[in-house]
Formats: sequence, structure tokens, C-alpha cells
Amino acid sequence: MVFFDLGGSGAGDSTLDNSYDMIIIGGGPAGLTAAIYAARGGLKTLVLEKSTEGGQITVTQKVENYPGFISIEGMELAERLAEHARHFGADISTNGVANLSFCCDKKSVTLENGRQIDAKTLLIATGAKHRRLGVPGESTFDGKGVSYCAVCDGAFFANKHVAVIGGGNSAIEEGLYLAQLAEKVTVIHRRDQLRADKILQDRAFENQKMEFIWDTVVEKIEGDKFVSNLVLKNVKDGSKEDLPVDGIFIYIGLVPNSDLFRNLLKMTPEGFIITDHKSLETSMPGVYAAGDVIDKELRQIINAAADGATAVSSAIKTYF
Ligand code: NAP
Repeated sequence: MVFFDLGGSGAGDSTLDNSYDMIIIGGGPAGLTAAIYAARGGLKTLVLEKSTEGGQITVTQKVENYPGFISIEGMELAERLAEHARHFGADISTNGVANLSFCCDKKSVTLENGRQIDAKTLLIATGAKHRRLGVPGESTFDGKGVSYCAVCDGAFFANKHVAVIGGGNSAIEEGLYLAQLAEKVTVIHRRDQLRADKILQDRAFENQKMEFIWDTVVEKIEGDKFVSNLVLKNVKDGSKEDLPVDGIFIYIGLVPNSDLFRNLLKMTPEGFIITDHKSLETSMPGVYAAGDVIDKELRQIINAAADGATAVSSAIKTYF
């Protein structure tokens, strides 16, 4: 039997049963799609999402690559997914998970209020969070000009100058969003080519409010009460320069929310959970994983949802 602490928060919920066929930890696109498939497949299903139903997509302004929606707000898609899961009978709870124990063919989840709920199968869909730069000033000015969420904090920077760090889809998509509000958006990328999808690159290069500083990293974030300056370093010639800014939005990739499974499941050195490619079962029988937390090439809403469906389908075939 293995016990480990998951942290989390949330109030008690007396409407929950003591036992489920499947408990899904994480209510993003992977977890909620899994819940739709599980509940519709006749499994008694519980989703535990300690934060916001929908996960990362709730802080995405616009989703343009989920089939059937030319453009949909992230929050609306999240609400629709949760409503869909509830419609077929899944319970969704904001209870935090305090610890888990796996014994034989029973998976037990202890909520923060001390209550234990058992399940025959477990699905981990805890997603990922934004990686931090790890430079001086990042923690000091967190929430005081340093942000990882343009949708949450962009309005504070109306008509101001912000920097966006990174060259992937997140940096460019959020940079474009910020350009609607800010006076100027300077994208700082460590190479001279973006990684983002071509359609996003084209929009960014055409945007009059967006500027690019290539081959450059942030060495230090400075300010008094709020961010006012970045110390930049050119990685090719080592030269340094100051860039006065009012804010900095950091989008340099994802870190899986998997710390607490580290001693329990097989993972990559970066902490992505390794699953069987066909079934998405982890190294622990009866425990599946889906979405951004697993080791895979593409991290999009579409394949997070597909992972959820695949994992549940495998679980039903194997355990029910
Ligand atoms: P990402 O695709 O991993 O890109 C991270 C970017 O940050 C890269 O350009 C990388 O540079 C740079 N970077 C990494 N570490 C750095 C460091 N220490 N200092 C400076 N720069 C650093 O991450 P993401 O953009 O957050 O996206 C995560 C996943 O979500 C991706 O799979 C992405 O496709 C997906 N996503 C999709 C959409 C969409 O489909 N619309 C939107 C958002 C996110 P290099 O290029 O040099 O490696």
C-alpha cells in the first residue's frame, strides 16, 4: 500500500457517495471528457477538481482549433464540458485530495476533510502549470508585474508596455491577446525563430503593436514596488541591455502537476507520467493518466480530450 500527499483545497461535500467505479483527479478537457465517456459508459464517476472546472482552458481567451468551434472562449468550452459530464451523471466536486492509497484492486482517495472514497479505477488528469524563468526578481514581483496569465492580468496593463517571454503557441497567442489591450508588446525569444503555429506567427508579425527581440534571455527582473525594467542578455554575443517595461508575461513551457505521484508511477525525468501508448494505463494497474500530465508529443485540447476517451474505453474493457 502506498500513501502520498496531494495537497489541494475545497469544502466537504456530503452529496458524494463512498464508492465509485472511477475517480478522475483533474477536471480539465482530459478529465471532463473522461467523465463523459465513463458516465455514459455506465460507470459511477467522480471528478475531483480542486480549482476551476475546465483547467487551463479557463484562462485561455480564445480557442480556435477545437473541431466544431471556429472560435470559442476558453471559459465557455470549459462550462460546456462540465455540463456535458454532469448531464450523463458524473459527480464533479471541488474537494481537495489529501492522500491516496492503492491496495490490490481498490484505489482509495482521502479528501482534505478526512473522508475516504474508494474506486475500482483511477484516472489522473492533473494537467500542467507554466514553467517559471527562475531569474532574480521573478518571485519578488510575482503579481506585481510578473504574470503567467494574460487573460487574468492583461487588463492591468491597458495602454502600457509589456514583455512576453517565449516563442511557443502560448507566448504568441497570449501576446496577441495582450496587444489588444497594451500599448506595446515586446516578445523576447531565446532563438531567432518562433516555435508557434504558422497562423499565429503570421498574425503576430503583422500586428503593429508587437515587436520582437531575438536570441535573447531575461537575466533579471527589476523594479521598485512594481516591475519597471528587464535586464536582457543576447545569447549570441553576450551583450546586455535594459528594457523598461510595465509588466512581463512568462510562457516558456509546461511543468506537469505530477510531483505527488513521483514515487508511485513511472515518469520521465521531467515528471511526465509514462503510460501505455494504446491503453493509457500507467505503471500501476487500474490507474490511468490522460492529458498534459502524460509523456507525449502534442499538447492540445483535442488530444487531451481524446486521451480521456481512450483511457476510459481501455478501463471499461479491462476492469468492468
Ligand atoms: P512550448 O511549446 O514548450 O514553448 C515554450 C517556449 O519557451 C519555446 O519557444 C522555448 O524556446 C521557450 N523556452 C523554454 N524554456 C525557456 C527558458 N528557460 N528561457 C527562455 N525561453 C524558454 O510551451 P507553450 O507555448 O507553453 O505550450 C505548451 C503546449 O501547449 C504546447 O504543446 C503547445 O503547442 C500547446 N498549446 C497549444 C495552443 C494552441 O493550439 N492554440 C495554445 C497554447 C499552447 P525554444 O523554442 O527555443 O525551445
